[in-house]
Amino acid sequence: MRSARVVFQRGLAFVLAAALLSACSHPDPVQERKFLAMGTLVEITLYGVDPSRAKTLMDNVEGQFHYMEDTWQPWQPSALARVNSLLGTTDWFSIAPSVRPLIVRSQVLSKESDNLFDPAIGKLIKLWGFDQEPRAPGPPPDAKQIAKLVADNPRMSDIHLDGIRARSDNPATVLDFGAFAKGYGIDQTIDYLKREGVHNAIINAGGDLRAIGRHGDRPWRIGIRNPRGEGVIAWVDVEGDQSVFTSGDYERFFIYKGTRYHHIMDPRTGYPARGTTSVTVIHNVAADADAAATALFVAGPKDWYRIAKAMGIHYVMLVDSSGTVHMNPAMAKRIHFEGGKTPKIELSPPL
Ligand code: ADP
Ligand code: MG
Repeated sequence: MRSARVVFQRGLAFVLAAALLSACSHPDPVQERKFLAMGTLVEITLYGVDPSRAKTLMDNVEGQFHYMEDTWQPWQPSALARVNSLLGTTDWFSIAPSVRPLIVRSQVLSKESDNLFDPAIGKLIKLWGFDQEPRAPGPPPDAKQIAKLVADNPRMSDIHLDGIRARSDNPATVLDFGAFAKGYGIDQTIDYLKREGVHNAIINAGGDLRAIGRHGDRPWRIGIRNPRGEGVIAWVDVEGDQSVFTSGDYERFFIYKGTRYHHIMDPRTGYPARGTTSVTVIHNVAADADAAATALFVAGPKDWYRIAKAMGIHYVMLVDSSGTVHMNPAMAKRIHFEGGKTPKIELSPPL
């Protein structure tokens, strides 16, 4: 009896001490949520938001991502798939309001990039089998079929918009926003969080992200994946409101008879772009960063500087296929190579 009381009293003291401790300590300032959407792992991080409020916000962001992936899915019934089938008729039709703004912005970005970013090449993406995840095993497509799609030359500029109406001049136009929708979606959800009064957050979709504010008393630290091998090659600090986007040949690829074929196409040749293994872009708007990373990947070590300038991008790091890192000086100031392992670097003039 006596010993039972002692145990009880000790237990009570422990519970009281724990309650006191939790009242004095602050709740964890970081709230996180992970879920799958747009074919990748999406991660929301909120800093300094009350946990129950954070739950509501994260539920809404997650819901918005699922809505966007359903809407912009080119290869299954969706608003975008309907637009694609109607573009093929070359007649006027009513454009889905959820698709129109992506067309408007990507027309500008395509033009600035000399069409190296060209979301109108959906037929080519499908021919290469990158409409499937994972891609069905098998050889690359027939060279004649590739040449035919290149000759058809679908461009964003083939699409005409007039209020709620749209049409394409070119029946070969099929939109695939795989290089753009993640960025666009991140912008939508960051804008939503800002409207809700969130000041410090990251939305990260498969390593591509937009960060606002800071992580408490320090900037957000962002790792950039090593395109060949494990782990990160470098890191950058971001704060305020910036997006970090990387396009790499390691995301989706297949190897056939010893040759590696990846998912970023050069619209001029119809084949995966050669010469680059990854491109990282830092920019304020995520949609533009996404498009630019893809365009600069295609542009490659010789042309990236000219295209970055035309697109108004101020921070670029391109790793070429020999491992040399190409950067503009402002990017070089921000990049910290992991473990002090500095690769061969070629600096461009300022952007
Ligand atoms: P990630 O898959 O790492 O996000 P990207 O943003 O570069 O890489 O997007 C690649 C996807 O974009 C491809 O899977 C394809 O759907 C589409 N795509 C491929 N090449 C181009 C291109 N030149 N212009 C626009 N979209 C492209
Ligand atoms: Mg992209």
